[in-house]
Amino acid sequence: QAEDGIRDQPRSRGLGDVYKRQIYILQFRTTLNNNKMKNYLILFFSIILFFSCEENNSNEVNIYSKRHYQVDIKQYENFEKLTGIKVNVIKAGDDELLERLKNEGKNSPADLFVTVDAGKLQKGVEMGLFQKINSEVIDSNVSDDLKDVNGYWIPITYRARLLVYSNERVNKSELSTYEDLANEKWADRILVRSSSNAYNQALMSSLYANLGEDATTDWSSSVVSNFARDPKGNDRDQVKAIAAGQGDIAIVNSYYIGLLLSSEKQSEVDAGKSVSVFFPNQGDNERGTHINISGFGMTKNAPNKENAMKLLEYLTGIEAQNTYVNNSYEYPANPSVKPSDLVQSWGDFKRDNLDLNALGIYRKDAIKVFDKTGWK
Ligand code: FE
Repeated sequence: QAEDGIRDQPRSRGLGDVYKRQIYILQFRTTLNNNKMKNYLILFFSIILFFSCEENNSNEVNIYSKRHYQVDIKQYENFEKLTGIKVNVIKAGDDELLERLKNEGKNSPADLFVTVDAGKLQKGVEMGLFQKINSEVIDSNVSDDLKDVNGYWIPITYRARLLVYSNERVNKSELSTYEDLANEKWADRILVRSSSNAYNQALMSSLYANLGEDATTDWSSSVVSNFARDPKGNDRDQVKAIAAGQGDIAIVNSYYIGLLLSSEKQSEVDAGKSVSVFFPNQGDNERGTHINISGFGMTKNAPNKENAMKLLEYLTGIEAQNTYVNNSYEYPANPSVKPSDLVQSWGDFKRDNLDLNALGIYRKDAIKVFDKTGWK
């Protein structure tokens, strides 16, 4: 990945140097002026001035981003127009970016890290890379159940990892829970991507956290034996495979259906139209559908902290939340904003209220389950 956008220079110190000189001038004056009280006062104010100018007065904010959606460019342009603060983005995989933050340490130019998985944010917290985000604005902007209980990361959107089924070959009444995917009736019919994917790792982590090791392992073995084919491709490819008759039911992230239906490619629109959306585990005694958030962590030594906070407040506000839902078909973290019309047409659903940090805490266990049960 090219390091476009982020400058190589050490972080700017604002006007610090100019004021340092002024302090010397002030101090010089005070020695001429043999008044002790005045000396102290001037020195006192000089120090205050010096430290307030040590605060960064930069006009930019630097993001390390795992997100790969067009809507983000739009958001950052809108923010820049509104505030004059330039948003620089470096894109890469999340493990790679976390490693980079660790290696750069205090000298990192990054203010923010954004990804599509609470588990990776939890990992960053565990690595000691982030500082707590204290903002009343953000706090009142986002739903309580989507927040980090420890206050280190903030959600901007969320997505459901749900089921889609063939309109031709599956009846909605046949569907119920994730657990039911283990049923023999789904033999040779289930489509899903590989276990190396973070979305699947988060889903398996949620099952592990909710059901425990034994039940999760049994479930995974049965699901693998129901696969229509070896896992391959991304979420969109699973939907296309249903359209092509290669399987009947797939596990995918909710927004991909919106992206397919609004695609410029007719084949993608057709694939989107060949399926319907189903939210698993909605019964009264069931935990709800597995969700994950897209969210930001603020780096421990964010050189442009004030700007970063302004950006986060903007992104969780009404305007930006509407931009997200109408372009990426994600769900809004801000409960006063409604999902896009298409997403609303799927109806409301109950979300699994598992602490989202569990998606990171149980990742290693989830990967062991995948390996043990032959989910490639
Ligand atoms: Fe995605």
